[in-house]
Amino acid sequence: MSGSIKKGRLRASADLSGWADGVGQSRKSLRRVARSYEYVEGWGRAVGSRGRVLRPTSVKEVRAVLAAARRAGEPVCLRGGGNSYGDASTNTRGHVLDIGRMNQVLDFDAETGVAELEGGVTIAQLWRHALPRGYWPKVVSGTMFPTIAGAAAMNIHGKNNFKVGTIGDAIEAFDLVLANGELVTCSRSQNDDLFHAAIGGFGMLGVMTRVRIRTQRVHSGELQVHARSSRNLRHMLEQFEEERANADYLVGWIDCFGRGLGLGRGLVHVARYLEPGEDEDPEATCRLAHQELPSSILGFPKSQVWRFLRPICNDLGMPLLNLSKYTAGRLEEKKAPFRQPHAAFAFLLDYVPDWKLAYGPGGLIQFQSFVPKETALATYEALLERCHQRGIVPYLGVFKRHRPDPFWLTHAVDGYSFAMDFKVRPERRQELWDHCRDLTEIVLAAGGRFYFAKDLTLPPGTARRFLPPDRVAAFEELKGRLDPDGRFETQLYRRLFRS
Ligand SMILES: Cc1cc2nc3c(=O)[nH]c(=O)nc-3n(C[C@H](O)[C@H](O)[C@H](O)COP(=O)(O)OP(=O)(O)OC[C@H]3O[C@@H](n4cnc5c(N)ncnc54)[C@H](O)[C@@H]3O)c2cc1C
Repeated sequence: MSGSIKKGRLRASADLSGWADGVGQSRKSLRRVARSYEYVEGWGRAVGSRGRVLRPTSVKEVRAVLAAARRAGEPVCLRGGGNSYGDASTNTRGHVLDIGRMNQVLDFDAETGVAELEGGVTIAQLWRHALPRGYWPKVVSGTMFPTIAGAAAMNIHGKNNFKVGTIGDAIEAFDLVLANGELVTCSRSQNDDLFHAAIGGFGMLGVMTRVRIRTQRVHSGELQVHARSSRNLRHMLEQFEEERANADYLVGWIDCFGRGLGLGRGLVHVARYLEPGEDEDPEATCRLAHQELPSSILGFPKSQVWRFLRPICNDLGMPLLNLSKYTAGRLEEKKAPFRQPHAAFAFLLDYVPDWKLAYGPGGLIQFQSFVPKETALATYEALLERCHQRGIVPYLGVFKRHRPDPFWLTHAVDGYSFAMDFKVRPERRQELWDHCRDLTEIVLAAGGRFYFAKDLTLPPGTARRFLPPDRVAAFEELKGRLDPDGRFETQLYRRLFRS
């Protein structure tokens, strides 16, 4: 890995011109930046603290914020939409720089589907812009609210990770404002080290202010979907492998309360894009009105549905809810394949706004591990067994297939991931953390990895146990060189890399 960072206005090619604006920092710009004291929390609500949040609207203002932080000798925590479950975009010290107001779609090439976006553009904005033009983002998360910079900084994956890789694989270039205020453009041909380190670099190397990203041509606003019920985890893995060659998307839901022969039982959804001509009226299905999620569920305004879930979000209600979903899945399998709008398939979790509130005041954490295909079955069965032995069972389990990628700190492996949502009861918090430590050891012993966007419980030092040592060393060398004063910091960084 070569070392030097080219500074100033860098261009991979003529068409990257104008990305760097070359304007210096000034106190005048800082005065214009919106700011407030706020409680800033992780998405799962299990961690948070009060802090000063600054919301710049331009590169100039980003630089002004960084200059002010340098003068004050304070750290800056970068934050996008705040959709990371744990402490990846929270900080108990210094400032929070929220990129959300830099949210313009700067360009969209209707010939190629390449979009140029300010860092604060959300996935929701991107798909809404792209779909009426016949494109869909190549990679989306289970929620549409992350910003493109936050998604790139975590190198998010979708239900198609096995097929198209992570979001980093779709990114062509980005602008990064370094700790000293310099702006560099990174791509596979310019500052490629920084390109591969900052994607997945969880906001530790600089502020992404602009991202150029490819989207996917689609010939319909709908996907062809079918469901397969899985008797247990082994069955689900077999189904994934059977479907992998022909599917564009694969996702498994797991009833974590199943035991014995039903350990890891669940439901797999398989989806593929429609070929040209399969949809008789693609213009209509690509319209936003066709995509919007319903505004009510069973007649109730969906903004209130979490209130109905709250009384059952416990160890009595959740086994029943999971059982009824599993039973419904066995019926769904018998249905003919059906068509579903992209947004409905991709953003199922957004159907019930604020569903996390159903978990109560302690919130929730997600424990998502990534395990090579060779050890996945035994490992995930062991995780589920351990949950039952301990009496701490996840209320939601989601299963996906992945493939490796070239980003330095990537979580992805040639294997599977299992995301487990646990309710946090304030009085039993330590017990849950101890449980997650046990699960962590099982995953590490199987050669598995973890994902910073979903973490709150990994003990200090764990990241060095699952990431390749040469990558970590190179990342730390880059961080030391570009950010010698440790300007960019989060609670997660301090927990995993500094303690
Ligand atoms: C319901 C739900 C479902 C999800 N499903 C998935 C999924 O299917 N797949 C998946 O991969 N993830 C998933 N996620 C996680 C989510 O996609 C990631 O946490 C994503 O990074 C959130 O983006 P954000 O804009 O909210 O960023 P934040 O959570 O605010 O920040 C994420 C990271 O980006 C850094 N950052 C923020 N802005 C910048 C910037 N301008 N420059 C550099 N660094 C920056 C932060 O410091 C932090 O480290 C899900 C989250 C939720 C809540």
